[in-house]
Amino acid sequence: MTTPAKQNWSVKDSAALYGIENWGGGDFSVSSTGEVTISLPFPTGQVAVPLTDIIQAARERGYDLPLLLRVENLLDARISLINETFRKAIRTAEYRGSYNGVFPIKVNQQCAVIEEISQFGANYGHGLEAGSKAELLLCLANLNEDGLLICNGYKDQDYIDLGLWATKLGYRCFFVIESVAELPLIIERSQKLNIRPLIGLRIKVSAKVSGLWTETSGDRSSFGLSTAQLVATVDQLRDEKMTDCLQLLHCHLGSQIPDIKEIQSGVQEASRFYADLTAEGIPLRYLDLGGGLAVDYIGNQSKHSQSCNYNLSDYCQCLVTTIKETLALQQIDHPTIITESGRFTVAHTSILLFNILDVMRYEPISLPESCPKDIHPLVTEQYQLHHEISKIELVDVYTQAITRRDKIRNLFRSGTITVRERSLAENLFLAIAKAVIEKLDWQKEIPLSLTGVKQSLADIYYGNFSVFQSLPDTWAIGQAFPVLPIHRLNEFPERNASISDLTCDCDGKLDHFILSSGESSTLPLHPLKTSEDYILGVFLMGAYQETLGDLHNLFGDTNVISVRVNDDASFDIIKEQSGDTVSEVLSMLEYNPTSFFTGFRDKIELAVKQGKINVTERQQILAQFSERLNDQTYFNSTRRKHDH
Ligand SMILES: *Cc1c(COP(=O)(O)O)cnc(C)c1O
Repeated sequence: MTTPAKQNWSVKDSAALYGIENWGGGDFSVSSTGEVTISLPFPTGQVAVPLTDIIQAARERGYDLPLLLRVENLLDARISLINETFRKAIRTAEYRGSYNGVFPIKVNQQCAVIEEISQFGANYGHGLEAGSKAELLLCLANLNEDGLLICNGYKDQDYIDLGLWATKLGYRCFFVIESVAELPLIIERSQKLNIRPLIGLRIKVSAKVSGLWTETSGDRSSFGLSTAQLVATVDQLRDEKMTDCLQLLHCHLGSQIPDIKEIQSGVQEASRFYADLTAEGIPLRYLDLGGGLAVDYIGNQSKHSQSCNYNLSDYCQCLVTTIKETLALQQIDHPTIITESGRFTVAHTSILLFNILDVMRYEPISLPESCPKDIHPLVTEQYQLHHEISKIELVDVYTQAITRRDKIRNLFRSGTITVRERSLAENLFLAIAKAVIEKLDWQKEIPLSLTGVKQSLADIYYGNFSVFQSLPDTWAIGQAFPVLPIHRLNEFPERNASISDLTCDCDGKLDHFILSSGESSTLPLHPLKTSEDYILGVFLMGAYQETLGDLHNLFGDTNVISVRVNDDASFDIIKEQSGDTVSEVLSMLEYNPTSFFTGFRDKIELAVKQGKINVTERQQILAQFSERLNDQTYFNSTRRKHDH
């Protein structure tokens, strides 16, 4: 870990260490003074804005850390990119159809995000996908009237009526039938309202995909029609003389599919369904291939579940050519290709920024010059080992030290060793482990018995955020997001650490990091300075995190701002939203903040009566209580600075 040497450390070394180019897709870089920047191409040239400048601007407006930052340009860029890349693939393959993307609302339902996607996406006719009645309402409020609107999920009469009205208004609103029970209701309601529906059928493809979402695909997935149900549904539509309504086939293989071969099999299978139904005379026009386009969180272009062995061009080409080739067998017209790419569209746009509040180090506190007399022989032996490290094999040193440490702990429990002896022994153990780490050559293979030594001595950095609120997937499914300091990258990061959040939950931590050298349970970080905040950023976290978050330990939403970067490297704060206050969080849990306050007031008044406090103190306590109810839920570093 010590090459290149600490003295010659440069921002390039940091960029390489944290793998910024591998996972950043060009959206982030490092300035010569060591700050992470948002990096954007403009016709007038490349522009880079340090995240620290944005944090400064947010703070001046009263939005302190933790802060969720959205960069609108990055969202726009992804929408352009996916549309342009499909266009290119279509042109190259001489495909006689077009691409029409839709954004699946569930991936990020936040107003600022949906509004931006609807507005910017209109340039490309980019549509929306709803998975519930509430999401459909959201789509209708945002999408242009001629927009493409895909309705998935279970549909009751109200959902269907809304969709039918949308069709009447001019939206291309498709009901994707997920189960056989849905069709009779759609037929009934469309006759009742006298509006002809647009219908899609969701098929179960048997091709199974790997990754974390394998259950979405295959025979046993809970969504979609089996082949027999598909045929029966088509026949039912024919009996009702409604085959003209059936214009779309849909499948969704899963999210974050790492292997392009698996995507290809799925697309091939879906195309075969499309071809045969078309050959039967169904006037299909759209083939919707759902989500699955992966984000390379790890940045190593592999089949790892958090990476992918393809890029966007590969993906577009794969879809276009596979459909074209499969349909060529029966000379079928080429459909409009739809994808519901959610993760890919929004992951890059959001960055969670938080400050470090404190550090716990696993280091010897102090060691005596010479071994004290009259102490337990085991402690003396540990002392001697510490002095003889260079004479013994490192593996032996470490095994001896651990064995002895554990014996000493046992003897402490049984009362044979005193608290002072144990304290010395623990310090000695840490000193030995530290010496072992320093002597190991980390460029070479590390003996198995020593692989844990670095981790056992790693610092814990305490961050001002909640994993459960802001990064729920790291806890729920072991998702690793790129994490790194957003400044001081011109300094050598000499510490190794895992990160703990503000909750009192041992799961509230980050201990799975992405470095260019591979995955790691510790992250290289800089020692804290007393005079300045140390700020970390969690990147690529725009997909799925925001509404899955929960109120563990009553930590609510963080502050959020959306910025737009201009071609002269200035930026505008477009939207801002204060984090939840304590009283807002309490209201979500059905507390009534007013009666909450009154309840406390009654207790305080009683304390006055009993002579525990006087009236002046009563006023102070009540004022505090009421102010704290209106504070945000996170650690208030502004107040700490002022108080000192
Ligand atoms: C969740 C979901 C998506 C989004 O998938 P991504 O992998 O995030 O692009 C698309 N379609 C359906 C039906 C979904 O359930």
